[in-house]
Amino acid sequence: MSGFTRIPLSRSWQPTKLLQASLAAHAAAVPLLAAQPGLWPWVAGAIVADHAVLTASGLCPRSSLLGPNWTRLPCTVVNKIAITIDDGPDPEVTPRVLDILDQFKVVVTFFCIGKRIIAEPLLAREILRRGHAIENHSYRHLHYFSLLGPRAMATEIAQAQDIIESTIGAAPLFFRAPAGLRNPFLDRVLAHQGLKLASWTRRGFDTVTNQPAKVLTRLVTGMRSGDILLLHDGHAARTSDNVPIIVQVLPALLQKISAMAQVPILLRAAL
Ligand SMILES: [Zn+2]
Repeated sequence: MSGFTRIPLSRSWQPTKLLQASLAAHAAAVPLLAAQPGLWPWVAGAIVADHAVLTASGLCPRSSLLGPNWTRLPCTVVNKIAITIDDGPDPEVTPRVLDILDQFKVVVTFFCIGKRIIAEPLLAREILRRGHAIENHSYRHLHYFSLLGPRAMATEIAQAQDIIESTIGAAPLFFRAPAGLRNPFLDRVLAHQGLKLASWTRRGFDTVTNQPAKVLTRLVTGMRSGDILLLHDGHAARTSDNVPIIVQVLPALLQKISAMAQVPILLRAAL
């Protein structure tokens, strides 16, 4: 590892209106209470309400209230759909996914976990060799990622960034939070590390649903140009025959995308 203090191409950070209002409310609370102590129940209530709104925003993966968030491709991109595949690389599932993608001659974006890259460096390089992109899905994929403070969050993201770049020779440009859950610290951390947050337009819940038809229906119902779709090669649910759901769903999904005259593209190709 080349160290976690390296700062690639950081961008300026601008807090969203919600964060600005929250910071202002906190700053006003102390002098207000000093001047009028009797107001404390109202001030405490306002602060609690503010934290409730911030928490709720972080629990909505597609919300932009805490910072910019790609939930679709930019509107300048037409007749394109971005397929994103999370939580790998997985030694059993990912090679099968890569072969299906080759058959259809399409490229997708893999949001990989840093520790999985360490375990499967050759597979990570194979993903890149076949024309796909690898983006940052954190180092450990912690279930409590959204509870981390800014320093721990920065380390979790920088470790994955370092490992991916040193393994495949290409730095991620996007970050996706584990389960899409985050807190108000994330946007500033991402700005500092020069990363953009990406969530999705629609997802199949293919880590928990073991019926391929249901997963496919969730992905294609209402699907249109500019969509970002979410599937999983890591943590993939399995059919009763022990086939990973993504392996069952992907061919039908790619046929549907082709029938709609849409072309799958990498997320980074839409920048
Ligand atoms: Zn994930």
